[in-house]
Amino acid sequence: MEKIKMSTPLVEMDGDEMTRILWKMIKDELILPFVDLKTEYYDLGLVEREKTKDQVTIDSANAAKKYGVAVKCATITPNKQRVEEYNLSNMWKSPNGTIRSILDGTVFRAPIIIDTIKPVVKNWKKPITIARHAYGDVYKDTEIRVEKPGKAELIFTDCDGNVQRDTIYDFECAGVLQGLYNKDSSIESFAHSCFKFAIATKQDLWFSTKDTISKKYDQTFKLKFQEIYEKFYKAEFEKLGITYFYTLIDDAVARVIRSEGGYIWALKNYDGDVMSDMVSTAFGSLAMMTSVLVSPDGKFEFEAAHGTVTRHYYKYLKGEETSTNPMATIFAWSGALKKRAEFDNLKDLYNFGEKLEEACIDTLLQGYMTKDLVNLVVEGTKVTALNSHDFIVKIRENLEKKLA
Ligand code: NAP
Ligand code: MG
Repeated sequence: MEKIKMSTPLVEMDGDEMTRILWKMIKDELILPFVDLKTEYYDLGLVEREKTKDQVTIDSANAAKKYGVAVKCATITPNKQRVEEYNLSNMWKSPNGTIRSILDGTVFRAPIIIDTIKPVVKNWKKPITIARHAYGDVYKDTEIRVEKPGKAELIFTDCDGNVQRDTIYDFECAGVLQGLYNKDSSIESFAHSCFKFAIATKQDLWFSTKDTISKKYDQTFKLKFQEIYEKFYKAEFEKLGITYFYTLIDDAVARVIRSEGGYIWALKNYDGDVMSDMVSTAFGSLAMMTSVLVSPDGKFEFEAAHGTVTRHYYKYLKGEETSTNPMATIFAWSGALKKRAEFDNLKDLYNFGEKLEEACIDTLLQGYMTKDLVNLVVEGTKVTALNSHDFIVKIRENLEKKLA
């Protein structure tokens, strides 16, 4: 069989530990035998980040900006223990954080769903994609503990020296204070990424805040979304038959639980943090969660939502057998190849991405899976637990049948 051609390179960001091992297996078994793969390779493994003083991360993000599509392996975010383990000269920042800020992007997380794993919420039939605004609010807050009665005020001095002030509370006892901020530019980027992703995936977009209580802060989010929708995206949404829908966060929660799924739910930073864990847990497994970073100008970076699976890696290093689920990482590859195919108008490449995903789903439906999924499948399903390599080989067998 002749290999499928590509025209523009994919930005490939390699990573760490167990997912780095899976990365190579996926390429060797599922991509390279079928695709004449063109990538611009960046090694974001911690050793290379240390060697380049993290320049490699910045370079990879700029390449993603240039080419428009990237696929990323999970990477270690250094902490104190990693600094010792890898003998680092610096506690390098999270690569995901660096890439996200260079692309000014929003992260969309969606589960891969199969018929034999039922979500905890019985009526969910389609994926619910969570879009979290990852800037500001409580994550960049300023807090004060007050120990005595006194007056708390909010004061803003603009660049011309004009002052706006308001009383927060006249404390008659001890208590706590919190200052939050966000920026119009960041909210606007978030909105553009959400509308673009809704169009790219042809799904409805929901957005929810608490604007009835937060009449300036949350209200700004609501108004920005509405304004940007009407100005830039309404016509395209109507053409595609998808809708933009704003509702209060508490109303949204009730609707989400009763829904069938199949839409994107955009949330402020804290709401997104909480709701993404709730939704991913209810769908079954972190190992089945995909993640896409989308910039406001429509660049895409695909990855798995989970980390480098350190515990399995240490077992692997000891020569023990591991059964690490490669699904989310394979879907990062298929997602990136399909997006590249869309941008470059390459039918065969797009078709390959689809077939690869179908082969993965077929393999799971045949009962072949990694150990993490065994306890999640519905009773009565015939199950064969495989190690990571054998599972990938099974997927390859199914893929070869599909491509024949
Ligand atoms: P993790 O790698 O996601 O793994 C946590 C646990 O979840 C694993 O020990 C395993 O449970 C289970 N798990 C996750 N993915 C799995 C898979 N594909 N197959 C089977 N089981 C899976 O999180 P972590 O251990 O907290 O973090 C490890 C490293 O990853 C850290 O250095 C962190 O900085 C990094 N990290 C990177 C990213 C990213 O690059 N996007 C995201 C998160 C974390 P059992 O042990 O019970 O089998
Ligand atoms: Mg969280």
